[in-house]
Amino acid sequence: MRVAIIGGGIVGLATAYNLAKDGVDVVVFERKYLLYGASGRNSGGITAMLNNERLIEMAKKSMKIYDEVQSEIGFNFLYRKDGYIKVASTENDLNKLKEEMNLQKRMGVKVKQIDANEVKDFIPDFNADAVIGGVYGEGGVIFPWPVIWGYAKGCRELGVDVKDYTTVEEIVVKDRAIDGVKANGEFFKVDFIVNAAGAWSNEISRMAGVELNNKIIKEEICVTESLKPYLDPYLLDVTTGIYLSQSMRGEIVGGIVGNEVESIDVKGSLDFLVKYAKRAVELIPKLKGLCILRQWAGVYDEGKDIPNISTTNVKGFIQANGFGKFGMCLAPAAAIEVTRLIRKT
Ligand SMILES: Cc1cc2nc3c(=O)[nH]c(=O)nc-3n(C[C@H](O)[C@H](O)[C@H](O)COP(=O)(O)OP(=O)(O)OC[C@H]3O[C@@H](n4cnc5c(N)ncnc54)[C@H](O)[C@@H]3O)c2cc1C
Repeated sequence: MRVAIIGGGIVGLATAYNLAKDGVDVVVFERKYLLYGASGRNSGGITAMLNNERLIEMAKKSMKIYDEVQSEIGFNFLYRKDGYIKVASTENDLNKLKEEMNLQKRMGVKVKQIDANEVKDFIPDFNADAVIGGVYGEGGVIFPWPVIWGYAKGCRELGVDVKDYTTVEEIVVKDRAIDGVKANGEFFKVDFIVNAAGAWSNEISRMAGVELNNKIIKEEICVTESLKPYLDPYLLDVTTGIYLSQSMRGEIVGGIVGNEVESIDVKGSLDFLVKYAKRAVELIPKLKGLCILRQWAGVYDEGKDIPNISTTNVKGFIQANGFGKFGMCLAPAAAIEVTRLIRKT
C-alpha cells in the first residue's frame, strides 16, 4: 500500500510517522519548507482544557504521545509542562470556563478553578484587577520547530520520502477512486491521499473533486526581547483572546486568537501590535517597555468538525484537516485515527 500525504505540517508528519511505523510506504509532499505552515508559526500551547469530549480525549492522548515519541525518535521537543491558565473578565466567560472545567474534571483532566488573586501564585506580578477569575490545569508549552524537525527525522529514519519544495499540482482520480498525484511535474501512483494541507485543504480537496468548506483563520503573534525566566504557565485571556508564554530563551511569545479571512494572508499588522501590547501590559504590568523583536502571522483551517478526519466519496481520498486552534494539542492522537481509518478502508 502506498500513501501520499499532502502537507508537511504537524498533521501530515505525525500521520506519516504512524503509517510508516505500521509498515506503510509513505511519501509526504510539502510545497515550501517544513515550517512554512501554521505548524511552524504557532505558540505551542498544549492543553486538554478543551470544550468537548472528543477534543479532550484526543488532547490527553496526544500529551502522552509527545512524551513517548520524543524518546522513540531521540529528539527533544522542548516540551515544558508548567501548566495552562485561562482567565476571564466577564461573568459569561467565567461561567463558560467553569462549565468546561466540570466536563474536563469528569474526564480526568487535572484542572481547578482559581480566583483572580490566585493567578499570582503562578504569575507573581499578575494584575488581579484585570480579570475576575479563571482556571488552572495541566499542560504547558511545546516548541513547534523541534516537534516538526523531530517528526521529520522519525519519518525519514522509517523510510518515509519527505519531499519539501514539492507542490502537488493535480490529483488523478479514475472511476471515483484515487489513481495518483502529480507534484512538480512528476506522477506518483498511490492508493491513498491524505489531505493534511491545513489552510490550503479546501483547494487540495477541490483537486479531487470533493467539496470542503473549512474556514480559513489568520492569527497574529509576536516575540519580545528576553527577560529572566519567570513566567511558567501558558496564559490565555478568553475574553480578549490574548495569550502569552515565556520561551526557554526568555522571550515573551504572545498573540491574539485569530479571525476568519477570505483567503490566505500572512501579513503582520500594527493594529495587532497595539491591541496585544495594551492588554498584555494590563495583565502583567512588568511587560511595559519591553521591545518587540519580531511579529508574524499564520493561517490555519477550522472544519465543521474539529478536526475533520474522514473518508470521502472518492475512494482513497482521506481528509485530515480542520484542526483550528488546536493542531499542536491534537495531531499526535489524530494521526493514529487517520492510520486506523486508512487500514480499515
Ligand atoms: C499564530 C498561531 C498560534 C497558534 N497557537 C496554537 C497553540 O498554542 N496550540 C495549538 O494546539 N495550536 C495552535 N495553533 C494552530 C496550529 O498551529 C494548527 O492547528 C496546526 O499547525 C495545523 O497543522 P497542519 O499540519 O494541519 O497545517 P500546516 O502546518 O499549515 O501544514 C499544511 C502544509 O501544507 C502545505 N501545502 C499546502 N498546499 C500544498 C500543495 N499543493 N502541495 C504540497 N504542500 C502543500 C503548506 O505549505 C503547509 O506547510 C496556532 C496557529 C497560529 C497561526
